[in-house]
Amino acid sequence: MPFEAVIGLEIHAQLQTASKIFCGCSTVFGAPPNTHVCPVCLGFPGALPVLNGAAVDFAVRAGLALGCRINDRSIFARKNYFYPDLPKGYQISQYELPLASQGALEYTVGDGIRRVGITRVHLEEDAGKSLHEGFSDSDRKTYVDFNRSGVPLIEIVTEPDLRSAPEAAAFFARLRAILVWLGVNDGNMEEGSLRCDANVSVRPAGSGAFGTKAEVKNLNSFRFLQKALEYEIDRQIELLREGGRVRQETRLFDAASGGTVSMRSKEEAHDYRYFPEPDLPPVVLDADRVDALRRAMPELPDARRRRFIEQHALPEYDAGHLTESRALADYFEQAVAAGGSPKMVSNWMMGELARALNDNGREISDAPVTAARLASLLQLIDRGTISGAMAKGVFEKMCASGRDAAEIVEAEGLSQIDDEAQILERITSVLSEHADAVAQFRAGKAAALGFLVGQVMKATAGKANPRRVNELLKRELGGGSPGT
Ligand code: ADP
Ligand code: ZN
Ligand code: MG
Repeated sequence: MPFEAVIGLEIHAQLQTASKIFCGCSTVFGAPPNTHVCPVCLGFPGALPVLNGAAVDFAVRAGLALGCRINDRSIFARKNYFYPDLPKGYQISQYELPLASQGALEYTVGDGIRRVGITRVHLEEDAGKSLHEGFSDSDRKTYVDFNRSGVPLIEIVTEPDLRSAPEAAAFFARLRAILVWLGVNDGNMEEGSLRCDANVSVRPAGSGAFGTKAEVKNLNSFRFLQKALEYEIDRQIELLREGGRVRQETRLFDAASGGTVSMRSKEEAHDYRYFPEPDLPPVVLDADRVDALRRAMPELPDARRRRFIEQHALPEYDAGHLTESRALADYFEQAVAAGGSPKMVSNWMMGELARALNDNGREISDAPVTAARLASLLQLIDRGTISGAMAKGVFEKMCASGRDAAEIVEAEGLSQIDDEAQILERITSVLSEHADAVAQFRAGKAAALGFLVGQVMKATAGKANPRRVNELLKRELGGGSPGT
């Protein structure tokens, strides 16, 4: 009997605010432990939280980008559990009334477009971090760093609409790209600013009912998400085939073995004893504020991709690639605005520029050649000042020296020779030196022309315009009738 997987994700994304969600402490990553803490984020009795308005704005933007309804009234709730990294003994989150709900996101996997329902987007605070290693007494003690305690997060919960590990990974990648595009999240999965819990069950293919799910916690890379799901799907199918049952539980992914291991039986909502947070008023969003945020939304990747195809006549493939990040898309449009022809800019961005960035481990935002300078290089090709082949060398020099294209072409005498008299002079001497090739050509051996073109190019150190050389050679050989 074939089985099918059912997957829903819960994604935690750190919002890019300068300060924490309920206090003024900095959210900067990597500070010495416990240097960005105060009575509020340490959970001292009597300290009162005050909501960071910027966190609300980021969450609304994420909700809008995910096609959600933005709820004009949402409330914070206390989620109670006992853990050393949670100083108050509860996490301030949202439960019954989340900030946003009922959205959907489309993504591509293989050559199909799929759609995933977004159940909700809610605001919450992050916990601290337990440090189990790195101290001389780590064999006996665990230390806690509260710098992350109170850092603003959104939790995005999807409907159980995903059906395979590659689908889940592709969806997560799409979601990450959009959050980063919006500036809501920095996308840094290694630093933990974006992490994912995967809920997965299996059922006989074609069945309408859901099976019992397991939840795999804290997957912080696309590869881990995919691996953990592959393992977990196989494990559950095998269990069912042997006549066993899947236990509802929370599992951990072990990167070393590639497997998942049971952590605890799954807690139910009532275990958390959720109740409304008495220290914070409801979040009331008036329509003007939401409208202003909606109007200020950047053009999102899908819309921009479609526009690139229509406005700049780019092939689907190019448009998809150039809208993988906002910085790439911006670079492309800056180069086009500076006079580069769109398809050429695209080719160069995907070719030479991508290679240069890759070789130097740089991002497009830190490109060695600005968009305007790439455009002026491409214009030199367009005008026939240099050949495409030469432009590659010039581009390398631009990367290395930071000089602009015209300067390099001028200083190194690289301008293409287009002048008829100059080219003819070289042709005349090549024809007299290679009478044998000329005879072969006249005897019908077409390949001899290529040889002669090569000789003329060599005589000009590669600077002659090859198209002109071809034309003029044919004219000379054919006794004055061009094109024969
Ligand atoms: P819980 O009450 O256990 O927290 P929820 O219904 O809130 O479960 O769903 C949590 C996540 O699990 C959501 O992303 C949802 O899509 C997913 N999910 C729910 N049921 C299943 C299932 N049977 N198989 C796989 N994923 C599921
Ligand atoms: Zn604080
Ligand atoms: Mg739930």
